[in-house]
Amino acid sequence: MLFRASLVDEINPCNQHRDGVCSHVASIGGVSESRTYLVKTFGCQMNEHDSERISGLLEADGLVRVDDEADADVIVLNTCCIRENADNKLYGALGHLKGLKAQKPGLQIAVGGCLAQKDRDSIRDRAGHVDVVFGTHNVHRAVELLDHAAEHGPIVEILEATARDDAEAFPSALLTVREVDHAGWLTIQIGCDNSCAFCIVPAVRGPEISRSFGELVAEVQQLAADGVSEITLLGQNVNSFGRDLTLARRAVAARELTADSPDDLGDAWWCGERWTDDRRARPLFSDLLRSVGEIDGVHRVRFTSPHPKDMRTETFEAMAATPEVCEHLHFPLQSGSDTVLTAMHRGYTAERYLEKLSEARAIIAGLAVSTDIIVGFPGETDADFERTLEVAAAAEYDSAFTFVFSPRPGTEAADLLQAEPSLAVPHEVAVERYERLRTVIERSSLKANMGRVGEVEEVTVEGPSKKDPSVLTGRTRRNTLVHFASPISIKTGSYAMVAITEGKTNHLLGNLIEVTMPARHRTRIPVAAG
Ligand code: SF4
Repeated sequence: MLFRASLVDEINPCNQHRDGVCSHVASIGGVSESRTYLVKTFGCQMNEHDSERISGLLEADGLVRVDDEADADVIVLNTCCIRENADNKLYGALGHLKGLKAQKPGLQIAVGGCLAQKDRDSIRDRAGHVDVVFGTHNVHRAVELLDHAAEHGPIVEILEATARDDAEAFPSALLTVREVDHAGWLTIQIGCDNSCAFCIVPAVRGPEISRSFGELVAEVQQLAADGVSEITLLGQNVNSFGRDLTLARRAVAARELTADSPDDLGDAWWCGERWTDDRRARPLFSDLLRSVGEIDGVHRVRFTSPHPKDMRTETFEAMAATPEVCEHLHFPLQSGSDTVLTAMHRGYTAERYLEKLSEARAIIAGLAVSTDIIVGFPGETDADFERTLEVAAAAEYDSAFTFVFSPRPGTEAADLLQAEPSLAVPHEVAVERYERLRTVIERSSLKANMGRVGEVEEVTVEGPSKKDPSVLTGRTRRNTLVHFASPISIKTGSYAMVAITEGKTNHLLGNLIEVTMPARHRTRIPVAAG
């Protein structure tokens, strides 16, 4: 079955079943009524994007989205095992849905994502009312699995890996229902080849597989044609994008290259060869940044998350040379102690990290930097933590996600703690360290934000402020939230210039100067092609 997305004037409830009886449209009193769905997401951006894909697949299958689970015929819980208490949250939600299913026997419940990949059969052991369990490598099979369950009963389907040549398995090759019309996420790579001791991703998402260069560029062209102006490139380790493609390229390099023109889409072009002018291995992520930025209609390009050990000068140069790429770098430090970094298997020292950061700031004018830091990793001493404080102060972050370490079952760190419980940092010590780190981060972010008072910055309008609907919110190129007064209403997704009047720790305040680019996105309705 091949899907495509297009703009249509009317929703055909189920394009897959034009010629026959459609099981996705219920007949009530002689009136056809589409079945309904709700996708609930627990987790990171990758999960949110997977949820957009699941929504796209369900809508292509004729289901209509609802906001209240009581109104849904299908509920999909898309889980994450990276965040704390993920399983408590999942089983709490499933416990609640058990009562709903008792009242509404036709309700189908599906559980997907990292936790499903990791816990597999135990989900149905603990929650027998779940109809479908699917993992991270077969999100694209959600609809088929729901259909199978409706006909044959509950099903668990977990694949060990994504097949490299299975185009449907790649996130953005599928239909999506974007949560925000003017901005699109593009998964450029799935999986991770690293082995950070605290992280479950390699176990549940498998090794790195990059999508082909040409396919990504073609997809951004399609998004831009639909009016999407902001693109975020997503991956677990975006700046190693293309490492596997380079190997594939070497395999085709022995053959005569066929991509002499962009219209001649040979193997080499799809591997990124179109963007090379010689036969050396290229840092394809920087090429991708440049190529995405060049596409007509793309106004902003962001990416997350890069790994410091793989960050190359070419990437900073591409960021600086491509005006569409925003001046924001998320650069996860995790710890400032070399001892802890080694125990985490991060592959860099604090000194090397700071050198790369200085290089980035020297090459990219006005760069804002955010980070992730874990405190209380097993064995972290007071001296280790002091070093983290020093590095965080030296890095002068604009913002940071800081976490108190909590072991994720299945990771090396969790196994280590089980073997040597004495390595655990007492919770009260970790919390005290967390607070001290927060103070350091807040100091630098307040300083950075106050330094922007008097500047005029471009923002993407994100709609009325949740706390005060009389002002609008927007996001700067440096990824800072701005609340600004506007005498006119402005459509979400428009670009505007805002005079910054005040800098706070986590946001800016300002006044509208002018709208520079009205939103031009259209509502995208997915349809299925047979
Ligand atoms: S780089 Fe490390 S933290 Fe990031 S996804 Fe891979 S293993 Fe996890």
